[in-house]
Amino acid sequence: MTTYDTIVIGAGMSGVTAARMLADEGASVLVLEARDRVGGRMNTDRTAGFPVDLGASWVHGIAGSRLWDLVQALDIPTIEYTVGSFQAGGRPIENFDGEGRPMDAASTTQWVDDVASADRLLVEEIAASSPGDTYLDVTERALDRSGFAPERIDEIREFFRHRVEEQCGAWIGDLDAHGLDEDAIDGDEVIFPRGYDELPRRIGHGLDIRVNSVVTRVARADDGIVVSTENGEFSARSALVTVPLGVLKAGSIDFVPPLPDTVAAPVSRLGMGVFNKIFIQFPERFWNESSYVLRALGEAGEHWHSWYDVSAVSGLPTLLTFAAGPFGRRMQDLPDDEIVADVVAALRALYGDSVGAPTAHWITRWGHDPFSNGSYSHLAAGSSHHDHDEAAGPVDGVLHFAGEATWGDEPATVGAAYYSGHRAAERILGHEVDLAAFAAGIRAREQNPEN
Ligand SMILES: Cc1cc2nc3c(=O)[nH]c(=O)nc-3n(C[C@H](O)[C@H](O)[C@H](O)COP(=O)(O)OP(=O)(O)OC[C@H]3O[C@@H](n4cnc5c(N)ncnc54)[C@H](O)[C@@H]3O)c2cc1C
Repeated sequence: MTTYDTIVIGAGMSGVTAARMLADEGASVLVLEARDRVGGRMNTDRTAGFPVDLGASWVHGIAGSRLWDLVQALDIPTIEYTVGSFQAGGRPIENFDGEGRPMDAASTTQWVDDVASADRLLVEEIAASSPGDTYLDVTERALDRSGFAPERIDEIREFFRHRVEEQCGAWIGDLDAHGLDEDAIDGDEVIFPRGYDELPRRIGHGLDIRVNSVVTRVARADDGIVVSTENGEFSARSALVTVPLGVLKAGSIDFVPPLPDTVAAPVSRLGMGVFNKIFIQFPERFWNESSYVLRALGEAGEHWHSWYDVSAVSGLPTLLTFAAGPFGRRMQDLPDDEIVADVVAALRALYGDSVGAPTAHWITRWGHDPFSNGSYSHLAAGSSHHDHDEAAGPVDGVLHFAGEATWGDEPATVGAAYYSGHRAAERILGHEVDLAAFAAGIRAREQNPEN
């Protein structure tokens, strides 16, 4: 049996990043991927003739972002779309009040100001919180102090709940009070008109990636690691596990010996949320051309509340809405036609008969996918930011972990996956890897495939 230098488990952003960096240094690297494709939670469906990003869409904040540096170095086109982080304002948003009535410019400005002042109180409450406090606890304390009218409090409470659902895929009462501390957006956000999976595909191009290889067991051997799949066993001096937190929590991979507490405890403390996407195409646009988002506040938006205009990607009138947290888990058990009918009914409550019958839709069910078991990680009540980085190991210097859940600075993002893959490669190699040289190497290979 060939003994590789490193076996990387999972060909998502973190896995291909690390594998490419190791291979660039001359290491023999095998990548084992359960699905029939590269990219993991960066998954672009192109069957309709245009890209539909069923997983990640956004770079959240391009200022000072090393991920953005990579996107630029690879010359990947993007579209500015700075509302991917549940902002109340900043870009044109068509808001509807709790009764489903359109809000005018003055009431929209008031709403944005009220959210900003509630957020300032929230920051103070988070700073004053005690271990074990949930995000629900701190938001309620902030709202108690706000002095707003009850109806406005209801709308902001709903807004906070939805923000947690969209950013973490979790119920607000399950998220730690510090669960959104790392949610800072610096600079604009962008999406990808050619599909976001171009990034991991181009990084992974040319690597030895075995798709349809479901890893079932990772065992320590005297001289390294033996990895078992349904198609056979492979051995290596070290292994890098990049499967999602949901897969680790489900115990789908048998670690022999069992993972030590240094890794197992953070894995069990952190939460894996559910965040699903529903794209719906319409025969005609019934919203303003300049709007980034349509949003229903308070009761009108209890379930379906925000629709993002992503028509620029396909050139056809298309809205993207989300179902996340407990609502997302319930939604993914329903058939497509019921979901679509429900979304359309919610839109007709705001726009009346101008909402035509949809012409196409795409619906995700990430919580049912055995190779992710959820959408992304979050700080469940009682866990800490350190848990993310602790979950990276390594165990005895040979068993490493990477992936969004192992990066405490901005978990749940493509950036986290990229940076954690970079960190793992540096740990395995024992020296630094320059990111500019990494990007230049990808370009050079594309221009001269013989190298
Ligand atoms: C709906 C949705 C929307 C998102 N939106 C954004 C966004 O807009 N911006 C953003 O920055 N982030 C977003 N994210 C998060 C982002 O997609 C992830 O953080 C990132 O892609 C994770 O990369 P990763 O390498 O950690 O994991 P993954 O991409 O999940 O890669 C892990 C790989 O392991 C494989 N695997 C699993 N089990 C096994 C096994 N037993 N054997 C072998 N292989 C296995 C999987 O198939 C997968 O390919 C979104 C995620 C979802 C689900």
